[in-house]
Amino acid sequence: MKGLKLAALHGNQRTIVNIDGVKVGKGFVIIAGPCSVESEEQTVETAKIVKKAGANMLRGGAFKPRTSPYSFQGHGLKGLKILEKAKQETGLPIVTEVLDPRDVSWVCEYADVLQIGTRNMQNFSHLKEVGKANKPVLLKRGMYSTIEEWLNCAEYILNEGNPDVILCERGIRTHEKYTRNTLDLSAVPAIRELTHLPIITDPSHGTGRLSLIKPMSLASVASRADGIIVEAHWKPEEALCDKDQALSPTQFEEISRKTRSLHKYMEESIWSL
Ligand code: PEP
Ligand code: MN
Repeated sequence: MKGLKLAALHGNQRTIVNIDGVKVGKGFVIIAGPCSVESEEQTVETAKIVKKAGANMLRGGAFKPRTSPYSFQGHGLKGLKILEKAKQETGLPIVTEVLDPRDVSWVCEYADVLQIGTRNMQNFSHLKEVGKANKPVLLKRGMYSTIEEWLNCAEYILNEGNPDVILCERGIRTHEKYTRNTLDLSAVPAIRELTHLPIITDPSHGTGRLSLIKPMSLASVASRADGIIVEAHWKPEEALCDKDQALSPTQFEEISRKTRSLHKYMEESIWSL
């Protein structure tokens, strides 16, 4: 792929992004938490549940990019303070979306990983801003984007001096309507042959269907993704955002346990051969 001066794979050197000791690019990393930060109780309780079930980092949106301007937009700074509390209680590093380049510098005070959402993937001024930040970036694939466009966006961030980019395949738009998006798992091995950057998948937004999150999480392991990011809620029926894809504590625990066990099997019996 032409033009990838910094993102291209050279030999077999791979980037490992280290977030407070959580290494993305080594082993299998699980990021879990609610779609949006709704209240202190909801976020802190969910954080405790996912931590106990084996999550490595907490996700949660304080700024929500909603299709309708009338839908819940997130609690902003108040939400970030709640995430800070959840981190104090559980020790889990925080992954949270920054929607606007003007917010990058102060969101960095709360976030351990800055998430760039699918709708902002090609917002080049935003990419340059997070490229100047001193925090790892989780770059979601644009829902209409090719792998080449996505990698060029990673290149924008690297080019500003930030080496810590994690890619996230979160599903693309196809003519299929049964699923919310089409989780393009072929992108995972494709990314591994094109770049040294780690890649995780988002089976929650990638399918939008509760019943499909577990199989696609397991398939993500088999495709050799470096981890998953999934939405979980202490009381899914009360979720203010993406309720239909919110995993219950029991469902999340099963996914966490089974993906880890499959990952161990793949390492010991498949990839090492
Ligand atoms: C999210 O992870 O909260 C989110 C909004 O995801 P995406 O940008 O992939 O839709
Ligand atoms: Mn969501």
